[in-house]
Amino acid sequence: MKLWLLSALVALLCVAAVPSSAEAAAAGEDEFMQTAIDEAVNGVGKGEGGPFGAVIVKDGKILVRAHNQVLLTHDPTAHAEVQAIRKASALLGRFDLSDCVLYASCEPCPMCLGAIHWAKLRKVVYGATRYDAANAGFDDSYIYEVIQGKAKVLQVAMEHRPGSGDDRPFALWKQKTDKTQY
Ligand SMILES: [Zn+2]
Repeated sequence: MKLWLLSALVALLCVAAVPSSAEAAAAGEDEFMQTAIDEAVNGVGKGEGGPFGAVIVKDGKILVRAHNQVLLTHDPTAHAEVQAIRKASALLGRFDLSDCVLYASCEPCPMCLGAIHWAKLRKVVYGATRYDAANAGFDDSYIYEVIQGKAKVLQVAMEHRPGSGDDRPFALWKQKTDKTQY
């Protein structure tokens, strides 16, 4: 075989073997989701909490991984997504995670959705749905109904008692010149 023909064949094979950037990104996303699912499975195995896992990705790499630890910590807010946000924020030393992506084994609950917004995350990828979670005994549809004002019975009594100086903290915040707005 002529040398030029051999070189051309080798070059062709190399191009075929290297995945496109889109394929590479998709493969990475699969790995991130699988890691989130593994976290959920690990958490259940350890008896630390419900069957939920999450990872936060920055610059195409896993920054932190976490699973639900409500049972371990006795903290009802220790959902996988919240645990991951706390870890990532502590690691980066900032509350703004707008350059990160969160992968969750399941659709975030309303509390985590709020935390995700406060953390300024721009993208969330989730696997199982809220309906899958409800099927496993984790039904958050009632909280969505409360938020939407559709709940027929309120579990929590919400009483508005205005006019007791509740504007003082805001006045102080507005006057503060060295504050960090977030
Ligand atoms: Zn949650």
